[in-house]
Amino acid sequence: MGAQISLGRIWGIPVGLHWSLLLVFALLTWSLADGFLLGRNPELDLTARWVIAVLTSVFFFASILLHELGHAWVAQRNGIPVNRITLFIFGGAAEIDKQAKTPGVEFRVAVGGPVVSLALAASFGLLAVATQNVAVLGASFFWLAQINLMLLLFNLVPGYPLDGGRMLRAAVWHFTKSERRATTVAMFSGQIVAFGLMAIGGYLIFSGNFINGIWLIFIGWFLQNATVAEQSSATVQQQLAGIKVGQAMGMIKEPRVPSRLKIQQLVDDYALPHGQRTFLVMDDEVPRGLVTLRNLAQVPRERWAWASVTEAMTPWSELTKVTPDIDLIEAMKLMDDQRVGQVPVVDGTRVVGLLTREEIIHLLRLRMELGT
Ligand SMILES: [Zn+2]
Repeated sequence: MGAQISLGRIWGIPVGLHWSLLLVFALLTWSLADGFLLGRNPELDLTARWVIAVLTSVFFFASILLHELGHAWVAQRNGIPVNRITLFIFGGAAEIDKQAKTPGVEFRVAVGGPVVSLALAASFGLLAVATQNVAVLGASFFWLAQINLMLLLFNLVPGYPLDGGRMLRAAVWHFTKSERRATTVAMFSGQIVAFGLMAIGGYLIFSGNFINGIWLIFIGWFLQNATVAEQSSATVQQQLAGIKVGQAMGMIKEPRVPSRLKIQQLVDDYALPHGQRTFLVMDDEVPRGLVTLRNLAQVPRERWAWASVTEAMTPWSELTKVTPDIDLIEAMKLMDDQRVGQVPVVDGTRVVGLLTREEIIHLLRLRMELGT
């Protein structure tokens, strides 16, 4: 999800802030300091208002993080690894790798976040009551209780990929025993909610409530995109389920080149005539590294005639490798995480081939055309 600011790790999960959040943080703090807090406590001086506003915003984003950690905790306890937690403009997202194996697990993971939000709303509510005479504290605790409650209610809306939509998917899966039908229903609910939000947003704009209208359309549009992305990823997962790396690789003949080869030779004799983009650099059976056209572009063109491919390649020791017997889906996740378009496939110490993104897409297209 684009550029991120890292906040370190919690339970081994990398936590990051998307840059868009900084803008929201600034706008929110400003609206708290100059709007809500000023309205509640006009006697406060400017500095105090801004300090409280910043702290309140921090607590708000901490609440979102705790909500996501609620999902992550349940997921990890059920043996589902969590790749990353990202806070961004619309809240948070815990990137959960694998689909849950049973509707029960899916339901519990989906409930984990809302339970935390409910607890937070209740705690801030109690604090607000306890501090209602401590002017500014009462006001900001009240605001935090309210916003956590809103977060809870919004997430419970039954439109995939919101938590409520995930619960719906789990319920349909449980009652119909069909995961495929559950996905269809969940996606449909997601579309209805997304278009519903956009319609309400449009109505608000025409009735003069411009900012809220734009905001709702924006959220609806975001949900719509998320639903479509989830849908295609669910389709891909269904198509590729059970296929091993060994069955997918080798569709495109993987070229091997010796390490003494000059870059110019590689371009003239291998890349251009055969339309190849990726090459294993090997001396006899000893792997040295991997070189892609993108790597070559990093070397100044005037050096191509005499620089060997080793100058451009990624050394073997730095490459992530897979074995032929792992699931293709696992290998794809790995490639996504590492942001690479190919991984070498090794069996023990022997290099058996190269798995490329093109091959996976090719395989996927074949299977879809065959309707399997
Ligand atoms: Zn959630």
